[in-house]
Amino acid sequence: MRFYAPKGTTDILPDMAKKWRYLERKASDLFEKYEYEPIVTPIFEHTDVFQRAIGTSTDIVQKEMYTFEDKGGRSLTLRPEGTAPVIRAYVDNNMNQMPQPVKLYYTGPMFRYERPQAGRYRQFFQLGVEAIGSDDPAIDAESILLMIDYFRSVGLKELTLYINSMGCENDRPKYVELLKQYAIAHEQELCKDCRKRVELNPLRLFDCKEESCRRVMEHAPKITDYLDEDCKNHFNAVRRYLDMQGVQYIIKPELVRGLDYYTKTTFEVVSPLLGAQNAIGGGGRYNKLVEEFGGPPTPGIGFAIGLERLTIAVEKEGAFVAMEEKTDAFIAVADKAVKEPAVNLLYALRGAGIATDIDYTGRSLKGQLKYANKKGFRYTIFLGPQELETGIVQVKDMKTSEQYAIKLNELVDWLSNIVKSQTMGSGVTKQS
Ligand SMILES: [Zn+2]
Ligand SMILES: [Zn+2]
Repeated sequence: MRFYAPKGTTDILPDMAKKWRYLERKASDLFEKYEYEPIVTPIFEHTDVFQRAIGTSTDIVQKEMYTFEDKGGRSLTLRPEGTAPVIRAYVDNNMNQMPQPVKLYYTGPMFRYERPQAGRYRQFFQLGVEAIGSDDPAIDAESILLMIDYFRSVGLKELTLYINSMGCENDRPKYVELLKQYAIAHEQELCKDCRKRVELNPLRLFDCKEESCRRVMEHAPKITDYLDEDCKNHFNAVRRYLDMQGVQYIIKPELVRGLDYYTKTTFEVVSPLLGAQNAIGGGGRYNKLVEEFGGPPTPGIGFAIGLERLTIAVEKEGAFVAMEEKTDAFIAVADKAVKEPAVNLLYALRGAGIATDIDYTGRSLKGQLKYANKKGFRYTIFLGPQELETGIVQVKDMKTSEQYAIKLNELVDWLSNIVKSQTMGSGVTKQS
């Protein structure tokens, strides 16, 4: 009997999980510099939460949700995205009574029943931020700049930023009606799916990958030409803030993001390292969402980044190298007779903050050295009866092949000084 991970899921093994931890750590450090605070919401919510927020006409709600009934007869859904749960939590916990805006970030798995393909899973991971309680265009710019700042902080150099405005309830219905008329006039050229979209959700016509549909949509009316004064001013202000920070962007009127809740600013960042599926993050403003959940009228904006695709981009950029420098130590035990003092040394080193390990499978000394090498330990400490007797141990720097003779009672201090100087980036200080 053998078990396999469910279709569309994958185990994140240590090599990959370490990269994820690194990306998450860089994210939380930076998000907190921008004064965003962590929030953790349940992985499942009442199904209504997503139907209400994302919209019943979207692909997500129609086909992609993991919805189930629990033993109490409630309809629950594994979260397909992170914004709706955060907004539900904002209303649920009366966070509108806290100082505004409330700036939050989250990380965790999301679930969508989609056809699995390279880099796309049914359980996938996202990092996201939400700023709730401000309609200031400067905070739209902050959201965009934070995302760009983050991508740069993990080593991505070439990025393209697309921005758009989707208007508001005052101007968008008029535009959608216009778009619908346009699509009806070109119905013969549209694919089967798109013909259904014309009635249901004309904005989705922009998402179709079919050549003929794309050709039609290239000449479709552009939402940016139909914005009212308020939305136009807002969009121009966002652009000025981006210009002030020297961030380049391309206005892309077709960028009408897949969920119903977006209003005004939307944005997306793509990486040329990712080929056709090249978006690594996107977001936008959602000024009606808090009301949808029964809260007072409250504007909000946020973004989400896909961890899987981000990892591929950072790998392709070769930017994980910086984190791979290890300073761990391995105690090679030359004789079983010294196992106990070796274990004492192990805990002394760990107590001093040095990542340290020892053999647990009874390998020969040669086998231990092979293991240490394979696992990439930076320092190997040799401990045998002779070392205990003389009080002097040999420490080998596996990277430089240099060997040091160190007094056993000074070893912990000596090594922690070296490790400290290395993790501070000042390189190895040679001592003996
Ligand atoms: Zn408007
Ligand atoms: Zn189509």
